[in-house]
Amino acid sequence: LPRTPIFEALAKQPQETTAVIHSASNKRFSYGSLLSDVAKTRNRISTGKDLHGKRVAMLAENGYEYVVGLLSIFASGAIAVPLCTSHPLKEMQYVMGDSSPSTLLTTQKFRFRAEELVTDPSVLMQIDEYAPGREAKVEVELQDNDWAETKCGALIIYTSGTTNLPKGVVSTHSSLGAQANTLITAWEMTEKDHLLHVLPLHHVHGIVNATLAPLMAGGTVEYLFPFSPAAVWSRLVSGVNKTPDRNPITLFMAVPTIYNRLITSLPSQPAEIQKTAAHAIQSLRLAISGSAALPGSIRDDWLRLAGTTSGGGTMLERYGMTEIGMALSNKLDKRVNNAVGWPLPGVEARLVDIETGEVVTKPHVEGEIQIRGPTVFREYWNKPEATAKEFAEGGWFKTGDVATTDEHGCYFIHGRRSVDIIKSGGEKVSALEVERELLELPQVAETAVVAVPDPDWGQRVAAVVVLSEQGVREGWNLARMREEMKKRVAGYKVPTVMRVVKEIERNQMGKSEWNHSPLSYLQACG
Ligand code: ATP
Ligand code: MG
Repeated sequence: LPRTPIFEALAKQPQETTAVIHSASNKRFSYGSLLSDVAKTRNRISTGKDLHGKRVAMLAENGYEYVVGLLSIFASGAIAVPLCTSHPLKEMQYVMGDSSPSTLLTTQKFRFRAEELVTDPSVLMQIDEYAPGREAKVEVELQDNDWAETKCGALIIYTSGTTNLPKGVVSTHSSLGAQANTLITAWEMTEKDHLLHVLPLHHVHGIVNATLAPLMAGGTVEYLFPFSPAAVWSRLVSGVNKTPDRNPITLFMAVPTIYNRLITSLPSQPAEIQKTAAHAIQSLRLAISGSAALPGSIRDDWLRLAGTTSGGGTMLERYGMTEIGMALSNKLDKRVNNAVGWPLPGVEARLVDIETGEVVTKPHVEGEIQIRGPTVFREYWNKPEATAKEFAEGGWFKTGDVATTDEHGCYFIHGRRSVDIIKSGGEKVSALEVERELLELPQVAETAVVAVPDPDWGQRVAAVVVLSEQGVREGWNLARMREEMKKRVAGYKVPTVMRVVKEIERNQMGKSEWNHSPLSYLQACG
């Protein structure tokens, strides 16, 4: 295998320890079997072909085969392109068309879908046909390889498509290594960690944070797929109940929507589970939230379930992007509510005033977050203009997210420059802040705050709201909402438009997407 930061870390681990577990069957795979299967699969996919720099797409369920497939693409010198298993065909075709892979790796389960995506069936390869985990092991050695070291592309992840069509973000072997290593350091991941994995494997969150980092630290990643709140509760509880062969879970990573589903489903779980849930939460070394802003109500409800005010019940929020991996994070020993913390080790961060372009030096002054360092991606696939546009002088990547810091250098996200910062009558309003306040009201179950154009004010603040049972009972309306909100925020921040909807569609990362965004709800509602 090539001497990349990832393989170097994996080869260092005691080869008999467990790397991956398939949660449903409790089947275990050691580091030795993982690396051996990666070497074999790499040989198979690259027989007779030079894959170096070519794209190899992956369509497979979460689990051991997925990890083997992904790492074997890294090992072949090709660029891996993970597809989202739950996307409709059209979105998969967009990614296939944009990245033009020469091979598509799949499994029995997704073969039917994969066949719909290719015109020439010979480009399809089924990873699970090679019987990973069941054949004799091969000896694995690391070899120096000029492409493996640094600047060659290893992975293309498509952004969530929140603000526009998803863009293919090319990360290199070295940027991926740096993204994982900074988390290992900051979150003190070790071989003792056992992560319960419930995230999709086509985003940084699921691939880098929850798979590569814990594996490179020598820990165990247990894939629970497909996600269901009942299965997660049951697994967390079995870990603290000393169930044979079920180790306690130490690490859990999720998006706010998943935490919310866990919280709201607990009362319908079996009594035995409800009784032990608090203990299970407390025994987590770390529960991490990210990918979207963590609403205070979810953070507080989780803490209430844990029955403590500290320890494993306290969620740790962090901030990142496909282009830069994770950049800002609360600390193990210092967590600030509604904040995303401080720059991770090796990551440089600064705020730049949107109007003047000056670097912000004072606390509580808004600016765009810019990031520099070894974790930053190489380019947008096939989009040199977009790549050039997003970098400022000196190699700083412009995130498009607006934030302030406090006196201690701790970052607070206010939203996206393009959509969440509403400019109304010369005042700037953070959509995230208004959403946060609305969510505190017992009448509101879910909300998305957006700008609507207005001839007088430029933009007005509008709220799309899903009412709670109480809100429905009370026949909540715009006037009532305004009355409550005036007690909480400055007058210009109080929404002047409210639309009640049954549901706000969110993607798997907990974000409402550009193509079915709250704005389209507003338009549909007139
Ligand atoms: P696209 O770039 O296609 O519009 P996207 O930016 O949502 O989509 P991702 O790269 O998956 O795609 O998400 C990164 C974004 O997620 C960040 O730019 C930021 O706006 C948001 N984000 C991530 N973590 C947090 C957090 N803790 N709080 C608030 N926002 C967050
Ligand atoms: Mg983005």
